[in-house]
Amino acid sequence: MSEAQRVGEARANLVVMKFGGTSVEDAKAMLRTTAIVKGRRARGLSPVVVVSAMAKVTDQLIAAGKAAGRGDKSGALAIAARLRNRHIETAGDLLCGELFAELQTMIKSEFDALDDLLRGIAAVGELTPRTADNVVSFGERISSRMVAAAFAQHEMNGVHVDARTCIITDSHYGKAVPQEAAIEAKLTELVLPLVNAGHTPVMGGFIGANEDGITTTLGRGGSDFTAALVGGGLHAGAIEIWTDVDGIMTTDPRICPDALRVKTISFEEAAELAYFGAKVLHPATILPAVQKSIPVWVLNSRNAENEGTKITAMAPPCASPFKSIAAKKRLTIIDVVASRMLMTHGYLKAVFDVFDRYHCAIDMVSTSEVSISVTVDSNERLPEICAELGKMADVKLEGHKALICMVGEDIRGRSGMSGRVFSAIKHINVRMISQGASEINMSFMIEESDVEDAVRSLHAEFFADPDPVIFDTEARVVATKA
Ligand code: ASP
Ligand code: MG
Repeated sequence: MSEAQRVGEARANLVVMKFGGTSVEDAKAMLRTTAIVKGRRARGLSPVVVVSAMAKVTDQLIAAGKAAGRGDKSGALAIAARLRNRHIETAGDLLCGELFAELQTMIKSEFDALDDLLRGIAAVGELTPRTADNVVSFGERISSRMVAAAFAQHEMNGVHVDARTCIITDSHYGKAVPQEAAIEAKLTELVLPLVNAGHTPVMGGFIGANEDGITTTLGRGGSDFTAALVGGGLHAGAIEIWTDVDGIMTTDPRICPDALRVKTISFEEAAELAYFGAKVLHPATILPAVQKSIPVWVLNSRNAENEGTKITAMAPPCASPFKSIAAKKRLTIIDVVASRMLMTHGYLKAVFDVFDRYHCAIDMVSTSEVSISVTVDSNERLPEICAELGKMADVKLEGHKALICMVGEDIRGRSGMSGRVFSAIKHINVRMISQGASEINMSFMIEESDVEDAVRSLHAEFFADPDPVIFDTEARVVATKA
């Protein structure tokens, strides 16, 4: 076997496993995570592990930073003290003996550094983006040390890697842009030798550093992004995103108990679903993996036997036109009516500028001869937005609306799809329709109170006889028998 072949084979066994906040929220969760990684090692795989901060920690660090920035030193330190206790207690439940003592010392010194930082911020009375990144980075810095220690205790050769030595970014604090070539070089230099020596490297997600070594972060929820960067940079065989759901479902199982797990889905489909409220993961963050054709799995750390959902660049053809139905509630429709002005030059821009000024994202747009309808998340700025729009047009607001979004690559070029969709819900009033902006998505607005009915009717229409290659039909058989 040539050297190149040997490297290729070694990399196929390399799996990047990312565990979110709920998968490390306490000692029990960390032990579950440990067992899952140990299982992968037992199968002959070489895991590299990326972890989030313990659940809710990032929010609390943000709150502490803001309090300090307002000059509220005692408020900031009180939050840090609660976090310190939670981490030390967790460490106590997780480890014993020497390893506990070492970890406790490490946690204390990290929290001492955080306290110093918060005092400094409070003294200046200003929280800069650069300092804010430093504050929030403590969550992942500490959680990754704890998980590495748990791996060491369980004979998995756990070794901590400070993500800031590998994840090199620009200096756009709060949402830093990773420098993929530099990252690949660092991972090859620092992490690959550990893997080859049989260690299980553990690093914090979300955090990085610029080329001067100043701490940065990749934006909220950024640990998935880290996992994709690490998988891409190491040319891993697979990336696993461990979370607390069974993967991507045909719809929300709380609305529709018949919902099925989607076994495999394309990157584009997953991206549409994420945008419209399926909370599993934001596919933009796994782009570095998809570009290198590394499959990404979404898996449930509370149900590790479940096979989850595989996201790939291209999904196999599916007999069912749709893969999934997402619903997004709490939307408001704004009708902007201006009969004479509508098609005049600059009018649409003026309307959209108002939304832009209030940082208000628009979900759907539709226009007619006399009006523009847009849908937005219901929010407290709406009265101000409407007041401004009112200066140029008549404005009408309708709250308590919901968006239904049906996604599937296999609707491309099929006829009769809208007929089937709308006859399945012919008893329901549809307010706005959009199709074709992306070829794989059909969306429309209904009353919030109709969501359950609509989703169940559509699910019955399109998933009564699901394609077993794409959907987990076994689960439904089990559910029906039980
Ligand atoms: N801890 C970070 C956050 O809560 C990153 C992550 O969990 O992915 O946003
Ligand atoms: Mg998260």
